[in-house]
Parts: sequence; structure tokens; C-alpha cells
Amino acid sequence: MPLLVMKFGGTSVADLSRIRRAAERVSDNVTNGYNIIVVVSAMAGKTNELIASVTGTSAVYDAREYDAIVSTGENITAGLMALTLQDMSIPARSWQGWQVPINTSMVHASARIESIPIENISRKFTDGMRVAVVSGFQGLSAEGRITTLGRGGSDTTAVALAAAFNAEQCQIYTDVSGVYTTDPRICSKARKLDRIAYEEMLELASLGAKILQTRSIELAMRYHVNLRVMSSFDENHDVHGTLVCDEEKDMENKVVAGVAYSRDEAKLTLTSVADRPGIAAIIFGALGDVGVNVDMIVQNISEDGRTDMTFSCPTNQLPLAQKALDAIKFGGKLNYSELLTDVDVAKVSVVGIGMRSHTGVAAKMFKVLSEEGINIKVITTSEIKISVLIDRKYMELAVQILHHAFGLDAVENNSVKSH
Ligand code: ASP
Ligand code: MG
Repeated sequence: MPLLVMKFGGTSVADLSRIRRAAERVSDNVTNGYNIIVVVSAMAGKTNELIASVTGTSAVYDAREYDAIVSTGENITAGLMALTLQDMSIPARSWQGWQVPINTSMVHASARIESIPIENISRKFTDGMRVAVVSGFQGLSAEGRITTLGRGGSDTTAVALAAAFNAEQCQIYTDVSGVYTTDPRICSKARKLDRIAYEEMLELASLGAKILQTRSIELAMRYHVNLRVMSSFDENHDVHGTLVCDEEKDMENKVVAGVAYSRDEAKLTLTSVADRPGIAAIIFGALGDVGVNVDMIVQNISEDGRTDMTFSCPTNQLPLAQKALDAIKFGGKLNYSELLTDVDVAKVSVVGIGMRSHTGVAAKMFKVLSEEGINIKVITTSEIKISVLIDRKYMELAVQILHHAFGLDAVENNSVKSH
């Protein structure tokens, strides 16, 4: 029998009535002849609540116990979903990560899936089970302990299961109707995309769009999983959503597919560091050793053999970075005059595979920003994205004007405007 993976996020299973509505969608596909693997998240807010209980015990805690506790939210939803399906006369059974098993690395709280043997679930399908409801976000380490996959990890559970079972499609049900050109809360003209390439989705997710866990997109891209993001709230059962897929010629004839932003950036500048080989290695080596994720980097032109080095990292890693940079200064490894920090910054990025074959995207982006008097502090680019660091107070405006300038505004709104 053909197989589908259907993943329901926290808001889609927030209470018993939402679970029933999700179960009705599952039931439709069972009627259409599919066996289904349903992957569930914890009910909305549950994971945060569990994390708060853990951190309430002590500021420093054992990551193994964190995983033992934080993974439980998904087990409740899986059981309730199985019961709801059974009540609808559908042969369904819940599966915790260790029962599948979903084998992971031993890195607690951010484990990676290493393998998923399909025999246990497959045998039950052969015996007549129609729906396997799997707890998302969790797995089993080689040590025999429960692990979790990092926040948003149920997406990765779903994609990994779709790859392992060679599912026809992996459907991610959420509270929005698909992937948008940007965040509709910031830009009212944001538009749902019918399709987006894996690589674009990967950039958008890692640049701040929270719709899918980044790791799940990497997996989907590697195993060519047919991935669809859709809403479980849409009563018309819109089966389209957004397809995340291999790049195709006829995707959407746009150079830029989306605009992403992240508020969570801090800018650091080391002034007057020696401009000689090995200095960048000392700075970024020290930051890497303590786990700071450095994102953007610029080195200014040097004068008299000294230069300023500016870079960004997530705001919550700023204290860690400051400590590491103090240590290399006071440990005599590197001399600099000052460490300047700025937390009132945000990163805005434009993403699109069309940039590979079109020039002038960067120039256009910089021009649009300058026309609004928005100063660019740091720039980084890759083959398919350009990111700028700007003052946070301009973030919303920057997203809106770039969305407009790159032709992403929804058509309906444009026509209203031209009347
Ligand atoms: N419940 C977990 C979280 O909130 C995993 C997930 O929902 O994907 O991070
Ligand atoms: Mg999620």
C-alpha cells in the first residue's frame, strides 16, 4: 500500500477537538487507500512548560534528564491521537521513539538521527495496522537513553521517516497555509508560494523563518523527499500548501523568492588589532572553541598595520563571546584597543536561486535601503542570498521595501493600490 507521512505541529494538536480534526484528515487518506505514519508534536505550549520545570530545579542540569522530561509532551499527543483514530474505527497504534526505534547520536538536547530500521512498523502494517502515530522530536541513543532533536525537531522526525519508508509525500501541517515570501505579520503583502526549492527553503529557515527545522530541510534535500507545508486550520482542506522540492525551470520566474529577518543578532567590533597573518585565526578560533556561532565578518582596511574587525553572533551568545575575547587579550594572545558591542541590530536577507544567473541583486538591495536612509553595517553574501545588518528600528521597513522592490507583493494588493 502507498504510504504518507503526516506531521502535525503543536497548534494543530493543541486540544482534543484539534486532535480530532487532524485525525479526520488522516482518516480521509486512509479511505483513499494509504497507510499513514502520523508524527505529532507536543500540544502547543507543552514543551516550553516542561523546559521551565527542568530549569526550575536547578540552573545547571543533566542533559539526559532534560531529554527524559522534555520528550514526554509528544508521547501524550501520540497516545491521544491513536485513541481518537481508534474511536473512528481506524486501526492505529502509538510509537515512542525507542519503539520504532529512531536511533540517534548521543548529543542530548540536539541529537541527530542516525538510522531508522523500518521492520517493526512495517510488520504491523502487514498485520493490518493502518496508522502508526510516532512521537516527534525524540529518539534513542546507543547508550539506550532517550534523546531529543532540538526545538522544532518533529519536522526532522517526519522527514527522516518519509525517507526511511520511501513515503509518497511528507506533509507538514501547521497553522499557516504554507511558506510565505516573508513573514505576513511584518509585511501585509506577503504571499504564499506554491513551490520553493530546497536550497531556498534552507536559506530562509537558517536566516530566521521558523516554519521548518533547518535539519529537516537538509534531510529532505539529501533524500529528495517530496515535502509539503500546509495548514491544518483550513476547513476547505486546501491540499496545495507549498511544495518544497528540487529546483525546476518553471518554479516561479522570480530572482528573489523571499525576504527573511532575524532580530536576534549582536554586532561586535575589535578596534586596532594587528593586520598580520594568524590574527583572524586567533580571534575566531577562540570564539569557536567556546561555541560562539559567528555569522557575518568584515575586516576594515588597515592603517599603519592595524585594523578593526567586526562580526556578528546570536545575541544570547554575546556574554560568551565577550568572555572569550577578554581571555585572549588578558592572556597576552592578542592585543586590541577596545571591544565595542551593539545589540540594537537586525539582519535582513534576500534569498533566491535566480541570483545565480542574474546580476545586480546586491546593487538593487543597497539602493532600495539607501533611498530610505537605512545604513548598512555589515554585508555577507552567498551564491543565493545577500544579508545585511542594520539598525533594528528599521527592520520592518527594510523587509517591506525589499519585498516590494523585488516584485514579491501579492497581486490582489497591488491592484487595489492602483485603483
Ligand atoms: N515540541 C518540540 C518543540 O516545541 C518539537 C516540535 O514541536 O517540533 O520544540
Ligand atoms: Mg515547528
